[in-house]
Amino acid sequence: MRGRMMEDPLLISGLIEHAGTVHRDREIVSRTVEGPIHRSTWGEVRTRSKRLASALADAGIERGDRVATLGWNTHRHLEVYYAVSGMGAICHTLNPRLHPTELVYIVNHAADRVLFVDLTFVPLVEAVADQLTSVERYVVLTDASHMPDTALRGAVAYEEWIDGAGDFTWPELDERDGAALCYTSGTTGHPKGVLYSHRSTVLHALGVALPDVFNLGASVSCLPIVPMFHACAWGLPYASAAAGTSLVMPGPKMDPESITELLGAERVDFCAGVPSVFHALIQYWRAAGTRPEALSMVLLGGAAPPQSLIEALEDEFGIEFRHGWGMTETSPLGSVNTLTPHQRTWPAKKRAEFQTKQGRPPYGVELRIVDGDGRVLPRDGDAIGELQARGPWVADGYFLSDERKLTEDGWFPTGDVASIDGESCVQITDRTKDLIKSGGEWISSIDVENSAMGHPGIDVAAVIGVPDEKWGERPLLIAVPRSDPPPTKDEVLDYLSNSLAKWQLPDDVLFVDALPMGATGKVQKTKLRERYAQ
Ligand code: AMP
Repeated sequence: MRGRMMEDPLLISGLIEHAGTVHRDREIVSRTVEGPIHRSTWGEVRTRSKRLASALADAGIERGDRVATLGWNTHRHLEVYYAVSGMGAICHTLNPRLHPTELVYIVNHAADRVLFVDLTFVPLVEAVADQLTSVERYVVLTDASHMPDTALRGAVAYEEWIDGAGDFTWPELDERDGAALCYTSGTTGHPKGVLYSHRSTVLHALGVALPDVFNLGASVSCLPIVPMFHACAWGLPYASAAAGTSLVMPGPKMDPESITELLGAERVDFCAGVPSVFHALIQYWRAAGTRPEALSMVLLGGAAPPQSLIEALEDEFGIEFRHGWGMTETSPLGSVNTLTPHQRTWPAKKRAEFQTKQGRPPYGVELRIVDGDGRVLPRDGDAIGELQARGPWVADGYFLSDERKLTEDGWFPTGDVASIDGESCVQITDRTKDLIKSGGEWISSIDVENSAMGHPGIDVAAVIGVPDEKWGERPLLIAVPRSDPPPTKDEVLDYLSNSLAKWQLPDDVLFVDALPMGATGKVQKTKLRERYAQ
């Protein structure tokens, strides 16, 4: 017998209709690329995204067409999100930090018809425009007075374009239709597109808004440091609409000083981003002898945060730290470590050590670990295997690809290596490709990095395996020093032997000026391996 309930589809247009009606006056504050702070509201985002949808429809954009963005976190980018998905087209966010040849590949692969581009990235697009075969029109995210002199095809200023447009009625779509597209750089071959549906996006938005995840609500003000081109800013633009949360968008100014200024001026409660950004922020706060007053909670994810960073945030600056794990293919929320009231009573060191773990999956995600033969391993905190995920916001394959991605029984292999304990708490030890196998024993590069970053003379560190005749592979520690002169190799190894077994200690310690960072703020270990394997 079927239930007697309405079957309204879960659509992205429903999110903006809700926010624009119920939370109409909640603010959307944005640092513009032109410079000044722009203030608008969810009500205005709704009105303007409808006008933009109307302009797109007039330009011949139809359901399923791909419309790309190359933009910072701003109110205009937010409007594009809602206009494109709301009208049934697919909002394809491009990562401007990718190499231009990769961008060309991605735009052509997705066959993007329109490209919205921030002023900053106009030269980048101009340099490759003759190779972007599918793009019919470029919309520059600015107004007429800031419009650059450009030969980009059909170039128009965003404000002018929507000024001339009428109202729009959101169509009734199938909730399983594609809504947003984000390419992820695989380990081999070309980047692959993850195509989110309306249904997956709305369910994920509700999932991340939960108290134990982002704890969003209509009294919260949130600054997504994580870019809107990285897994849709972890769903914050959607979840904030569902919850009526006020958004503070940092625009192009991602330096610690500008972010700190915005966090303070707008009295932001919560922000989210990758560990490297917070690493820079706390150094700035230390030097400036201040911290944003209202900021009470941060969520770090995308890479493993070192324990020293967790301790600094919680104990030095008094900000609640939450740790999330996920990937583009999991929308991205996969697990969160939020302390229970009991765990909050633990001594600081014990608490911070526990917080380096990636936490428990929220409702909507199931996780398991398997061995090399695909056998499911016990949840005892000891067994280590490949982490697999399942749920309504986990990808079942890639955009325009026939490659079978799921296991026979329908799980997504993440490529991460982890343990899961009896309370379902996940601990990622590595990427399958980053694990170091020394004399038949596995060494977790994350463990060694985490320990190394606790040394007062080390700023950031990465560990890679280098070929070794006797042991197969041995760990090499590559670090950026904090002190001048840097600590000696013996001092570092001495320090590490407090927490690591002898065979886990790096064979060598190299100091460098900077580590190569990838387009999403993670250390590029492939580059390190190329450079230092010998
Ligand atoms: P991306 O799809 O670019 O977001 O990358 C996802 C990958 O980043 C995951 O498969 C992990 O290898 C890594 N990652 C994300 N969050 C964490 C975390 N909290 N700790 C360790 N690794 C992480």
